[in-house]
Amino acid sequence: MEVLLNLFLQLCCPRCFEEGILLSEDSTYGLCSNFVIRCKHCDFYSGFSSSKKTLNCPEVNTRFVYGMRQIGKGFSAGFKLCGTLNLPRLSDKTAYTNHENKLMSVISEVSELSMQKAASELLVLHPTKIKLLNVAFQLMERGSVEVTLP
Ligand SMILES: [Zn+2]
Repeated sequence: MEVLLNLFLQLCCPRCFEEGILLSEDSTYGLCSNFVIRCKHCDFYSGFSSSKKTLNCPEVNTRFVYGMRQIGKGFSAGFKLCGTLNLPRLSDKTAYTNHENKLMSVISEVSELSMQKAASELLVLHPTKIKLLNVAFQLMERGSVEVTLP
């Protein structure tokens, strides 16, 4: 943060062209910080976020939860990691779980679309085998046969 503060002090105001832009952290939302820059000499100010937002949610938080899941870790490990790295963190387990639920919803949707696409491709490439599989599934649903996969 100190590096950024010093950097912004060197920048010129886009309105009055004087040096001395001040940076302050306005708020945080998990790992995302919202900043405000103000000019020391005029009334110019502007805000920005440290993370791109998707559906009004900072992407860094979702990516963090996704990364933790990828390495097989959860909220507690993420809490410790952020603390060790002196990073802001998701406020509580509920916030973390909300991100996990959003991820699972998206993963489920993408998986279903992928399976539908793969089934469509198989239908074109091997129409006879697919028709046989459909018959087998219908029989299984009726309880007429029991199928053991190799
Ligand atoms: Zn200014």
